[in-house]
Amino acid sequence: MDLTIEQSCPSCGAPITLHEADRLLKCPYCDVGNYLASTGVSRFVLPDKAPDSIARKDLLYVPYLRFKGNIYSCRGRKVDYKVVDTTHQGMPITAVPVSLGLRPQAMSVFPVTGVMTGRFLRQSQKPAAVFAKAVDLASLVGRENIDPLYHQAFVGETISCIYLPVYPKDGYIFDAVLNRSLGPVTPLEEHISESIRYNSAWSPRFLATICPHCAGVLEGEHDSLVLSCPNCKTLWSEKKGRFEQVNWQILRSGNGENNGLHLPFWKIKPEIQGIKLENFGDFLRLTNQPRMITKEHDEHGLAFWVPAFKVRPKYFLQLAKSITLSQDHIPAGTIDMAGKMYPVTLPASEAGQSVKTVLANITLDKRHLLPQLPTIKTQVKKTDLVYLPFDYSGHDLVQEQTTVCVSSTVLRFGRTL
Ligand SMILES: [Zn+2]
Ligand SMILES: [Zn+2]
Repeated sequence: MDLTIEQSCPSCGAPITLHEADRLLKCPYCDVGNYLASTGVSRFVLPDKAPDSIARKDLLYVPYLRFKGNIYSCRGRKVDYKVVDTTHQGMPITAVPVSLGLRPQAMSVFPVTGVMTGRFLRQSQKPAAVFAKAVDLASLVGRENIDPLYHQAFVGETISCIYLPVYPKDGYIFDAVLNRSLGPVTPLEEHISESIRYNSAWSPRFLATICPHCAGVLEGEHDSLVLSCPNCKTLWSEKKGRFEQVNWQILRSGNGENNGLHLPFWKIKPEIQGIKLENFGDFLRLTNQPRMITKEHDEHGLAFWVPAFKVRPKYFLQLAKSITLSQDHIPAGTIDMAGKMYPVTLPASEAGQSVKTVLANITLDKRHLLPQLPTIKTQVKKTDLVYLPFDYSGHDLVQEQTTVCVSSTVLRFGRTL
């Protein structure tokens, strides 16, 4: 489930409602575009309904960590996946609920800003520890725990901190969203004495959507992670609060016409150690493809082609598999901004996390390859963004050069993940 966020426009202050995946804010009041920079953990508070008799500065904010993403596991002879969407206490205390349940989805949340004058309880649980717990919970089904686990990857994860407002009154602690007593305040006292005030590093940061190269206006859709400058034909993604140029290409349709759209893929050139995997021929041999391997295959450099957009894990693996296996049919592209370009919604860094899983999934003899995964090291040497033309054929989109097919419903659903 997606969070709904009440954000004020960084340019004019007008209220704007955002979804969790939104990055580009186009304010309907002042018409100014702002890009929300990634700050690691995003921090939000649930709206409180504390009575007027409680001073704002007496509110306490209790941290909960939220994880949302896909876990891919290479276990036994199988590549499996789980979707994880969970909220868990950010500090180990019994005085407050263990989880926020459905509350973050049932109401809008607000970004943490300087107007919050209450005190924030320290998050003592490391996000990694809480995430590991979530993984354990997610894999406690069937025989999965019996088979040895060779590799695990988290792809497309969002980690956020959601604060539950509470307040002390007459020796009891009250949930400020429901105005309900949670029990005596005593178990919380030690945590209250260590609590801290608002820190400006917790607030969202915005970048002006101006092309660093030509000062033109950068464009994109609300959830685009890559913005484009139609003026100088450059693409940009945000990294550590700055726009960095993205290496990119687009492949034109052979007949010069395309009624469909261009889907973005991260073309990842890996550096692999622990196994011989230097070119596409090696790759076909290692993954036991029933194909005649030619000299051309051995001369073709190896790349992993991973969707640069969110889709459900099943389709993510399917698309990565079919495009990666057809890479010898994909000619070089050009830099040209015509046609419909689908937004990039999965960052290159996340796509890079999936290389070993994609390799394992493509391999036919999994029993032989999977146990070797712990000793195989993969590093990303170079990543390019390549837009491939897909044409509508009924409800499907078909890639012209490779005939790889994807249903338009799969794409539409991916925008809501
Ligand atoms: Zn505005
Ligand atoms: Zn430009």
